[in-house]
Amino acid sequence: MSAAPHGAAQSGPALTELSDDALLRLVEQLGGKPFQGRQVLHWLWKHGVDDVEQMRNVPAKLREALRPHRLRAAEVREAELAQDGTEKLLVGLADGDAVECVIIPDGERTTLCISTQVGCPVGCVFCASGLGGVRRNLTAGEIAEQVLLAKARLPDDRRLTNLVVMGMGEPMLNLDALLPALARIHDADGIGMGARRITVSTSGYPRQMERFAKADESYNLAVSLHAADDELRKQLVPTATHPVREIVAAAHRYFGLKGREVTYEVVLLKGVNDRPSHAETMIQTLRGLPCTVNLIPWNPVDEIRRERGLERPLEAHVDLFAEALRCGGLKVTVRRQRGADRSAACGQLRLRRQPGA
Ligand code: SF4
Repeated sequence: MSAAPHGAAQSGPALTELSDDALLRLVEQLGGKPFQGRQVLHWLWKHGVDDVEQMRNVPAKLREALRPHRLRAAEVREAELAQDGTEKLLVGLADGDAVECVIIPDGERTTLCISTQVGCPVGCVFCASGLGGVRRNLTAGEIAEQVLLAKARLPDDRRLTNLVVMGMGEPMLNLDALLPALARIHDADGIGMGARRITVSTSGYPRQMERFAKADESYNLAVSLHAADDELRKQLVPTATHPVREIVAAAHRYFGLKGREVTYEVVLLKGVNDRPSHAETMIQTLRGLPCTVNLIPWNPVDEIRRERGLERPLEAHVDLFAEALRCGGLKVTVRRQRGADRSAACGQLRLRRQPGA
């Protein structure tokens, strides 16, 4: 296990961090032809190679010239496999920091959850990722590479079917890197994952959601609502400065532009936001909108439970909450806990390995 990605001693950005144009220019500077630059891009993103020698149809002279350049910006530093097959990866970055991504097999589906920032500025009270604030944005290469790293770990009979951008960080606060990363992940000449299979989650930044809506592709949007009442939401998401109605209006505009039904994520905490009155406020706010509410009983993080006294809600209360929303006319799903015997909650593995992070 090394602390830095493959070839990290080499200087400059990794090849995966270069835009297509920048990579083609570099190949040209090294004496290669434009079509050879495109071959290199294919090897990097479509085939996911992590060694220049694996680029078989690239001439030996160009491979030699590429050798001083790092191929990748990230590597798997540690992996934790839960009994249900969920695998959490601690992804090491060239500067020594780390983020998490999670591979979640579920029947025919295999979903990958990726991160967009080192740490998170949003500071949701129940989340380990936000405990130390944010350190920096990930680059587009670091975001997209998590998909390559995860794909390389799948057995031959499994393929990645879905991607959720719900890991560490607030995606809407790093759109400059996220949008090119998603284009790379979606591009048929890149990783080639359909936009319908990609979901980006936000804790609610209306202006950035408008910009996200202008992306060429129609990705799915999820909004982490947690509570429909502004005061309660501010307690759960202390940096939330936008009223719920503005966030819901921005999400509805996204639906209008893209035709993609929005999912509202609600992390349920015992006695905090899991009562019938909270369900009622949610019904009042979302009734009639084309959306689904995804209820997520909190995955306890010991440090947070001790310090903040938060608890996982009772199953019976989760069921009652879901039933109330359904009776109120909303579509509801309940996400049951995955990876329960491991560091299941977002940011937990990194917290354990980098306690000061
Ligand atoms: S739940 Fe998401 S938005 Fe909230 S602190 Fe954690 S990573 Fe950030």
